[in-house]
Amino acid sequence: MVLALALFGAVAVFRLWLSWLNLRHLGRTGHVVPSELTGSVDGAQLARMSAYTAARGRLGLLRGLLSALVIGAFLFAGGLGRYDAWVASVAGGYMGRGLVFVAGLLVLSAVSSAPFQLYSDFRLEARYGFNRQTPGLWWADWSKSHALSFLVMLLLSAASLSLVQAAPHTWWLWVSALVTSVSLLLTVLSPYLIEPLFYRMEPLDVADLREGIRSLTERAGVHVGRVLKVDASRRSSHSNAYFTGLGRQKRVVLFDTLLSQMSEPQILAVLAHELGHWKKHHVLVRMITMQALFVMGAYLAFRLAPSAALPGLVGLDSASFPARVLILAAATSVLLFPLTPLLAAWSRHDERQADRFAVELRGAPLDLAEALAKLGSENLANLHPHPLYAAFYYTHPPLTERIGALRGMV
Ligand SMILES: [Zn+2]
Repeated sequence: MVLALALFGAVAVFRLWLSWLNLRHLGRTGHVVPSELTGSVDGAQLARMSAYTAARGRLGLLRGLLSALVIGAFLFAGGLGRYDAWVASVAGGYMGRGLVFVAGLLVLSAVSSAPFQLYSDFRLEARYGFNRQTPGLWWADWSKSHALSFLVMLLLSAASLSLVQAAPHTWWLWVSALVTSVSLLLTVLSPYLIEPLFYRMEPLDVADLREGIRSLTERAGVHVGRVLKVDASRRSSHSNAYFTGLGRQKRVVLFDTLLSQMSEPQILAVLAHELGHWKKHHVLVRMITMQALFVMGAYLAFRLAPSAALPGLVGLDSASFPARVLILAAATSVLLFPLTPLLAAWSRHDERQADRFAVELRGAPLDLAEALAKLGSENLANLHPHPLYAAFYYTHPPLTERIGALRGMV
């Protein structure tokens, strides 16, 4: 237990230190407009960007500190043992206990994260003019999204628990197959069943732009079913664009906020970047990798869950099957933490490739550079991440690096 606690503490402290380092770096350099962004961002806008980034950073640091303390206490100060005993006292049977165990944790995590999300949306985001949702809409979203994830998680848990019981020696294979099928099914059904619960999507009504997008996707050789506009502005003025769907069901979704902020060539440049992700199979490779990791995780859980030494890692004498899976999940997240910068570097590599693809597809690297500068400025991005923080967490290269590379392609 001492070693497990030390590793858990080391990862938690290291994460907090990185966030603090990033904040301090911003405090020291956040008033200098990077040369790549002169002309796109002035001193006043930079001050807003840095203040917003610092406010988000401080909130993130507080949240990280509290969650490390709460999770640490739950795992190492007897919380899990008491929770496990409580579950056994209110529910009977293997299935009943398993489901109450999962449901209780889902409720705890939903309830404990709500105050942070409320503060973030109605104080922080509102202070910088991003928040556009009413409390009514916020709570409607919150209830719908949590009801949906409860339903999916409980059904998955029930099915997995019955597989564990029915096939005690091969369940890891069946559970992996189940999770893979469900995630594929959700990807296919989400545009019809889930997205309409939250957003109104309508066909893009700007004829010129629609034609521009058609010719761009044809030139890239990607078949796109529909080009849609989503009413993201009902919630937030943050802007974005994305591709979803598989096979012939692929769709382009543009935030209405993006449409109002950018010129047509800039929107096409952003879409050309997104097309790059499809053409270079980034989405597919990532999905396959995640599923492969899940199969490995399920196999490890199958091998290690019965181990007599497992409860001892968190100072317990005994633990139920769901509690054992939870201990394994926590151990995995601590042990795999050193992979974080590798996964982030992989993602940044894909982003650079998609940027290059966009320029090969339609030329005009400055269109994309200006679009990125505008996105960064409108969304109040951090122009001064600490290099170590960026190396660890950034899924996209820092804005100045991307814009510098694009300018170099002219
Ligand atoms: Zn991208």
